Amino acid sequence: MLQTISLVVVVLATVAGVALFARGASSIVRQVRVGRPAPGRLSPAGRRARTLVREVLGHGHFRQRPAVRAAHWLVMVSFPLLFLTLVTGYGQVVDPAFALPLLGHLPPWEWLVEAFAWLGLAGIVLLTGVRLRRRPRAGEPLPERRRSRFFGSTRWQAYFVEAVIAVVVVCVLALRVLEYAYYAGEPDLAQLATPLHFPLTAWLGEPLVGTGQAALADAITVVSAVKIVVSMSWMVVIGLQPSMGVAWHRFLAVVNVYARREPDGGPALGPAQPLLVGGAPLDVAALDDLPEDATLGVGHVEEFTWKGLLDFSTCTECGRCQDQCPAWNTGKPLSPKLFTLALRDHASAAAPFLRAAAPASGRPATSDAAPTAASPEEIGAAALAGRDGFRPHSGDVLGALSEAGATGPGGVSAVPSDLVPDVIDPDVLWACTTCGACVHQCPVDIEHVDHILDLRRHEVLMASAFPAELGGMFRKLESKGNPWGLAPRKRLEWAKGLPFDVPVVGADVESAAEVDYLFWVGCAGAFEDRARRTTRAVAELLHTAEVSFAVLGDSETCTGDPARRSGNELLFQMLAAQNVETLAEVGARRIVVTCAHCFNTLAREYPQLGGHYEVVHHTQLLDRLVREGRLTPVAPAAGEASRTVTYHDPCYLGRHNQVYAPPRELLGAVPGLSLTEMPRSGETAMCCGGGGGRVWMEETVGTRISSARAGEAAATGATAVATACPFCTTMLSDGAAANGDDVEVLDVAQLLLAAVRRGDPAPAD
Ligand code: SF4
Ligand code: SF4
Repeated sequence: MLQTISLVVVVLATVAGVALFARGASSIVRQVRVGRPAPGRLSPAGRRARTLVREVLGHGHFRQRPAVRAAHWLVMVSFPLLFLTLVTGYGQVVDPAFALPLLGHLPPWEWLVEAFAWLGLAGIVLLTGVRLRRRPRAGEPLPERRRSRFFGSTRWQAYFVEAVIAVVVVCVLALRVLEYAYYAGEPDLAQLATPLHFPLTAWLGEPLVGTGQAALADAITVVSAVKIVVSMSWMVVIGLQPSMGVAWHRFLAVVNVYARREPDGGPALGPAQPLLVGGAPLDVAALDDLPEDATLGVGHVEEFTWKGLLDFSTCTECGRCQDQCPAWNTGKPLSPKLFTLALRDHASAAAPFLRAAAPASGRPATSDAAPTAASPEEIGAAALAGRDGFRPHSGDVLGALSEAGATGPGGVSAVPSDLVPDVIDPDVLWACTTCGACVHQCPVDIEHVDHILDLRRHEVLMASAFPAELGGMFRKLESKGNPWGLAPRKRLEWAKGLPFDVPVVGADVESAAEVDYLFWVGCAGAFEDRARRTTRAVAELLHTAEVSFAVLGDSETCTGDPARRSGNELLFQMLAAQNVETLAEVGARRIVVTCAHCFNTLAREYPQLGGHYEVVHHTQLLDRLVREGRLTPVAPAAGEASRTVTYHDPCYLGRHNQVYAPPRELLGAVPGLSLTEMPRSGETAMCCGGGGGRVWMEETVGTRISSARAGEAAATGATAVATACPFCTTMLSDGAAANGDDVEVLDVAQLLLAAVRRGDPAPAD
C-alpha cells in the first residue's frame, strides 16, 4: 500500500515537474530568440568548447575566494553525479533492493556517490552560511544594507535552491545508510553490506542492522519518494519562474560561457565592440544608405542580441559585480547586478508582447524588421494569456531598485517601452565608469560594459539625451580634436624648455620609420598640467636611454576614447579614421603611449578600422629599458629619507589589458622606494572614477569615487600614490586634495626619472 501511494505521488510529481520545467525552458528559449543576431558567438566551436571546459572545471572567477570556489565546485559536480541516484530512487520506490544495472554495486561508483554526497552537503552548508552571514539585515539603515552583495537578490529563491540541494544530498546519504542495514538482513545481498561498498556510510548503517526488513524497506520507499518529490518541486518552481537565475544558471551558464565574447577566454573588456546595424558593424561612410527605421545602439529590449538577453537570464544574483562596483560603493544608484536584473525582468515581461507582435516569419518585430499587423488588443490578449507562466519582478529586486533610486518614473516597465528611462534610470546609465570590475568578477561572463555602452549609444545617437557636460566635450572634440577645446598648435607646449629637441614627424623627420617609437602624447599629456609632467618625464627617460622617438605635434587628435565611452560612436569613428589615416601617412609601426585609454584604443580598437600597430605603454617600455641597463635608477643620498608608495592600477591598463607587473617592477627597481599595496589592487583595483567619460561629468550623487580611492591610498600610510594614466593622476590628485590627505600623486615615470636623475642631474621642470 505504501509503495502504491508513493508510486502515485512520485509519478504525479514527475509529470508536473518535467512538464513545467520544459515549459520554463521553452519560455527562456523564446525570450532569448526575441534578440537580434549575435554574429560569431557560436564559432569556432573547438576553441569555445575548450574554454568552456577550462572555465567550468577551473572556476577561475572564484580564485579570490578559495573556500567558496571549492564549495561551489563540489555542489556543481555533485549535481550530475547525484542525478543518477535520482534514477535509482524511482526503482527503490517499488523495490528497496533496486540498483542501477552494471553501475549500481560497482565500488568506484559507490565511493564517488558517497564522497560527493558528503562533500556536496559540506559545500551547500558553507554556501548557505556565506549567504546568511553576508545577508542584508532588515532594520539596518540603507547604507549598511547596500554593503551586502546580496542586497536586491531574491532571497526566497536562493534559500529554496540551497534547501533543495541540502535535502536531496541528505536523502542520498540516508538511503545509503538504510540500504546498508537492509542488505545486511537479506541473505542474497549480505555480501554487499561492507565498507567496500559503503565506505562513508557503513558506520551509520551498522547500528540499524536488525531493525526489521519490513521497516527498512518502508523507510527506503519513503526516503526515495521524498528525494524525488523534493527534486520535482525544484523543477516545478523553476519551471514557473524562468527568471530564477539562481537555479537556471546551472544550465544557462554553460551556453553563456560558451558564447562569451572572447572565444579563448578572458573577460569582455578592452576594446568596445563595433556598433552593429543589421548584424554588421556600422559603416560610417554608408550612413546615408541606412534604412530609415534603422536604430543605432539599444533603445528597446528586443534590440539586444540574443546573447545580451541570455546574459540577463543567466545572472545568478550572486552580487559579486555589485560588491566591486565603484559607483555602487560610493552611493550611486548604479549596481551592475540590479541593472542586469531590471533588464531581465523587463525582457521576461515584455517578450510575450514582442512575440505577439512578431510578423509571420516568426521573428519578433524589431526596428530592423517589417512592422507587425497585429492590433494592440491582440498583442495585449496574447500577453495576458500568460502562456509563458513567468512571474517577473521579485519584491527584493524591485525594493532594492527603488531604494537605490534606480527605477524609472514608473518603476521597471512590464510592457515594451524605452529602456531609458522606463527600465534604466539615466542616473544609472551615466554613473558607469566602464571600469570593468563587474565583468571581471562575474562568474557567468555577463558583459555589463558592452550593454551599458549600447544603451548610451542609443541615448546619444537616437534620442540625443545625455548629460549636458558631455555636449560641450563632444563639441570640443569635433571642432578642436581634443576634449579641452584647446588649439592644436598648443600640442607641443609641453616640450618647451627640455634640454633636447623633440622631433616632429613631417617637420624634423620625414617618417616615423626613422625613429624607434612614435610617441603618442595624447590630449591630457599635451594639455593638462599634471599630465604634461609625465610626458616630459617619459621624453627625458627615452632620451637618456637613447631611444629615438618623434611626435605628431598638431597632427595628433584625440583617439576618440571619451566619445566612444560616452556613446558617441559616430564621433569616435570620425576621430579614429582621421588618426588611422595620419598614422598610415607617417608610416607608424611602433607607438609608445602614456595614457591607459590611448593605449587601449590604439592597440585594441584601431584594428577594427584597419590600423595595426605595435603599441607599448610607457611603463612596459621603461621597465624593459631598466632591465636592459639602459636606465639606471640611483639610491637617495645618505640621510635622505626612503619613501613608501602605493600603486593605483588604471582600469584600462590593468583589468582591460592585463598590464599589472611592469609598473610594479619599475617601482621595485627604484632604490629608496618601498611599495605597499592597497587592499583592492591588481585585478580587484578600484577605479579612480574617471573612465567612461565620467571625468567630463559632474559627480553629484554619493561620495566622489576619486575621494574614496584616494582615501584608500592614504590609509596605506604611503606618502605617494604612483599611477600610470594621466586621468588617474588628475582624479586621484583631486580626490586627495578634497580629502585633505597629505599624499602626492605621481606617475611611475616621474618617480623613475627622479631616481635616474640622481645619477645624471638634469634641469628641473
Ligand atoms: S563597469 Fe565599473 S562602474 Fe560600470 S557597472 Fe561595472 S563595476 Fe560599476
Ligand atoms: S556577478 Fe554576474 S551573476 Fe553575479 S550578480 Fe553580477 S551579473 Fe549576476
